[in-house]
Amino acid sequence: MADTAEILSWLGNLAQLEESPECADVVLLNTCTVTHKADRDVRKILGSLAKHHPCLPVVVAGCGVKTAGAQLAKYPNVKFVVGSDRPESVAQALATTAGVDDGAARLMNGMESCGQLTLGRRRAFLKVQDGCNSSCTYCVVPLVRGRERSLPVTEIETRFSKLVEAGFLEVVLVGIHLGRYGLGEGLSLIWLLRQVDRWADRLQWNGRIRLSSIEPGEWNDELIDFLRSSKRICPHFHVPVQSGCADVLLRMGRPHSPDSTARLIERLAASFKDVAIGTDVLTGFPAESDSEARETERWLVALPFSYLHVFTYSKRPGTVAAELSGSVPATEIRARSARLREIGRHKWLDFLGKGIGWRHEVILEHSTSGGYTGRSESYRKIRVEQASPDGMARIVRVMGRAVRDGWLVCDGLQEA
Ligand code: SF4
Repeated sequence: MADTAEILSWLGNLAQLEESPECADVVLLNTCTVTHKADRDVRKILGSLAKHHPCLPVVVAGCGVKTAGAQLAKYPNVKFVVGSDRPESVAQALATTAGVDDGAARLMNGMESCGQLTLGRRRAFLKVQDGCNSSCTYCVVPLVRGRERSLPVTEIETRFSKLVEAGFLEVVLVGIHLGRYGLGEGLSLIWLLRQVDRWADRLQWNGRIRLSSIEPGEWNDELIDFLRSSKRICPHFHVPVQSGCADVLLRMGRPHSPDSTARLIERLAASFKDVAIGTDVLTGFPAESDSEARETERWLVALPFSYLHVFTYSKRPGTVAAELSGSVPATEIRARSARLREIGRHKWLDFLGKGIGWRHEVILEHSTSGGYTGRSESYRKIRVEQASPDGMARIVRVMGRAVRDGWLVCDGLQEA
């Protein structure tokens, strides 16, 4: 069965691994039927998701589908049971499920299909760049997605206008190298963002723009100054680092150092009144020693990240790292991942807590028995325990009151 990393590589920046179901838009359950216990575990997980997260859609894939697909499909929140073991089929099901409200989701693969993925009716992803010219030694993206290319601005304008007309309140601009948008054509991300701002003014759109990840080397002072001055761009930046250890980064073929990235993260944190800074970290890279893993942990703890997406290394055929010796034992990888997730959990709770007593602008996305949930401009998960006077199709202002179960509980709901 194609593993999660490969499925994610098909989704590119449209998807991010979340640490818990509370943060996720969709759950991927990769089943295994090798043992009876594995079968039982799958049912246990599905039962628990149905009980504790009844609104969270689930995509089931893996070899368990071949023997028990029909039974698994009966669980109430299972939206797709994918019989194929092709990673692109699983990725397609995830994309479609994430856009389940209007069925408009499409899997992005190649610029000809570069377009939008909708999440509910309020947030939409608009892919403006695809491909990668880098050569990180662990990564299959350059092999499966090809060289960098940017969507022509006229096409972006057309798609952006359609999303605005369709009533979306947030548009997330995505690309594997969003920070390198248009460089081959003498353009830049800042140039594109200025165009988006002009279109939004012309369309009298009161929504907001969010940026997907931007690699450490793609930041500069001009971009930070521009983002600081923007009224529409959410103060939420994802800067994938993968490791905080210089030697590991070197072996990974990553073109940045822990020192330069640390300066960037500090600078971002100091430049905004309230900002979410997230990162990806990859653990268990070949020959990563215990002291190197601990170095990364210390590095992450010391920096003002708001959340971590933790990935465990797995060998991708065709990559340089697949030929490297020094595999880290699975038990050790699990232990390192658990420590990193714990660091990430603390950072997330700290970040939520800093939102107490602050006003937040939230797009309400789901109604629950006790109110509404949604994301704030700074990416906090917000729960509002009161009724919205006129439904969810708007951005509302709320006041942070308490942190509970990984959410910032807010009240004082008003129209923004
Ligand atoms: S920059 Fe590195 S990790 Fe990112 S897509 Fe390119 S090769 Fe993969």
